[in-house]
This record gives sequence, structure tokens and C-alpha cells, in this order.
Amino acid sequence: MQPRDLSAHEAYVPGRGAEEVARELGMDPEELTKLSSNENPHGPSPDAVEAVEAAASEIHVYPKTSHADLTDALAERWDLTSEQVWVSAGGDGALDNLSRAFLEPDDRVLTPKPGFSYYAMSARYHHGEVAEYSLSKADDFAQTPETILDAYDGERIVYLTTPHNPTGSEMAREDIVTLLESVEDHTLVVVDEAYGEYSEEPSAIGLLDEYDNLAVIRTFSKAFGLAGLRIGYAAVPEAWADAYARVNTPFAASKVACRAALAALGNEEHIEKSVETARWAREYYRDELNANTWPSGGNFVLVEVGDATAVAEATKRRGIIVRDTSSFGLPACIRVSCGTREETKRAVEVLNEVIADVE
Ligand code: PMP
Repeated sequence: MQPRDLSAHEAYVPGRGAEEVARELGMDPEELTKLSSNENPHGPSPDAVEAVEAAASEIHVYPKTSHADLTDALAERWDLTSEQVWVSAGGDGALDNLSRAFLEPDDRVLTPKPGFSYYAMSARYHHGEVAEYSLSKADDFAQTPETILDAYDGERIVYLTTPHNPTGSEMAREDIVTLLESVEDHTLVVVDEAYGEYSEEPSAIGLLDEYDNLAVIRTFSKAFGLAGLRIGYAAVPEAWADAYARVNTPFAASKVACRAALAALGNEEHIEKSVETARWAREYYRDELNANTWPSGGNFVLVEVGDATAVAEATKRRGIIVRDTSSFGLPACIRVSCGTREETKRAVEVLNEVIADVE
């Protein structure tokens, strides 16, 4: 017996961990700095660690499916009602909840190319078809309404990412508004703000007052440092409240994750430190790397290096793991995450040496 035909489904390829790379290279994991998955170099918020420890003795009891404490805190943070916050297992879980709530078999979605692979994966799991709009290097990967509307053909969901992974480009609020107003009535616009904390632009969550064809995705994986716990959310119009309970996998967001997220939300110092380091590092990369780079609103920078696979391989051997963006359709670029000041300076030294060698 075999599963159904899954040949159209691509498997998700995560960035490899330091242990795995160390094993392959016969190195000590301590000698490696992982700057390939846009994680928080300052680690988790200390309050979140305390909350995890405190929750440990209760993990034999199911969590509440309402996640009320976290939902209420997020509603307050964004001036929403609690019904407008759909807590999930990471931003990925939020994307799945929206796919389940909106897609019927053979519905089409429109995704950015290059872009985050999970939009297409989630749509396909839910029997959707995938179309793409192209962001071009010649245009500095600008996400303009014209670019997106040129490719738009009445899809059921259009995905926008701002700041955009892997290029770092951002979408202006008025351009998001233009899109919300230009698409057909049945089209949902998903604005993915996984890297929103690092941006200086206002969140699209503020547009939920006026638009009912919008969902905004946020995550605790980046600025809050909780990637390993899998916790995120979608901010949505109030009118969809009933759908959440119908599509959300029971208990998908764990009790430990919800408690940690709530604690992390309250630790502004850690968030500010994380954001400040990333904003410093992304400018440092842009100033100091001997290569073409693009402005980034996120905690990473896209770097044009020629042969990305060769460069990523060589930096790894010198202790720095970066992301080869060939899998995003950018074979001449790598994406390097913002590290601590020390890590970022070391990454620049190594990348500059390797770029000079490879040329
Ligand atoms: N959106 C984008 C653009 C991302 O880069 C990521 C993570 N790499 C996510 C969503 C989902 O992150 P998570 O599931 O960890 O919240």
C-alpha cells in the first residue's frame, strides 16, 4: 500500500542545524555559527524560559483550545478583539488555518517568486493550485501593486511578504491598500509579517479596521526567539470568528508554547535588544560586505556572490553557516542572518575572504 500521489508536493527543506553540519565536516558544533535560519542570536527571552520551566509540571494535562490568556494579550497589543486572533503552531500553522478556511479543491493562490516556500505547500496540501508573481532583481525585488496585479487572475488567496524573505524588500502600506482595493471580492490578501518586528513600517494589522479581505500573519519565532516552540498567529476580521474553531487542529499550539509566548510578549527589553541588534547588523552587512546587497527590513540580508553553492560551502568550512538561496530561485545569492555584533563581524570577515577566493 502507498500514500496518494504526492509527486506535486515538495518537501520542506529546513536550514541544517549546527550539529548536523559539524558532524558532516568533522567539526565541533561550538566552532560553527548558524546564520542560515533567521533565528534570534540573543536566544529566547529569559521570561519565556522561566515560563517554560514553570509549565513543566502541568504538561500531562491538555491545554485549553481557546489560548485565552495569549489571545487576550495579543488583542490588547494590537487593539483587536480576542475573536480576531487565531493562535497557531507557528506562522506556518496560521497559513494552514487560512488555507483550510478559504480553499476549496482546485482554487488557485498567487505566491511571490522568489518567496517563502510554505505558501505553495500549504495551498497544495489543501488541494489548491499555485500561480506565481515574479519579483525582479532589476527592480530590486520591489513588491509593487502593478507587479502583483499583472500576474493576478482572480486567485482565491494572494500572499504578500513584508519584510520579504529572502530579499528583505518591504511593501509600502499604500501599496497594500491599493491591492486590497483592486482584487476581486472573493480574494483574500494574506500579509505575512513574520519579520514585522524588525521593520520600521507600521503593521498591516491596523488595516483590519477597514478591510475584511485581509489576514496578517505574525510569529514568535524571530524577534521573540521562540522558533523551537512553534507559536504564531493570524490577525483576521472579526466576522470569521466561527471559522477558527472549525479549522484549527485541536491543541496545535501547546500549553508550554502559549505560556512562553505570553511571557515573551511582556519582556520588552529583550524584544528591543533583539530588534536593535538586527537593525545594526543588517546595516553593517550592507556597509562592510564586498558584494552587492539589498536593503532589508528583516533580520537578514541578501548578498550577491556569484556561485551561491560554492560560497555557502566555503563559509561553512570556516565556521559560518549561511543560506544558499538557489532553492528560492536565486542561485547567485546567499542570505545571511543578523547575528550578535561579534558573530556579524566574523561573518563579514569570512564572507569577504570567501567571495575574494571564489571570484
Ligand atoms: N513566513 C516567512 C516569510 C518565514 O520566513 C517564516 C519562517 N521561516 C514563516 C512565515 C514561518 O515561521 P514560523 O512557522 O516559524 O512562525
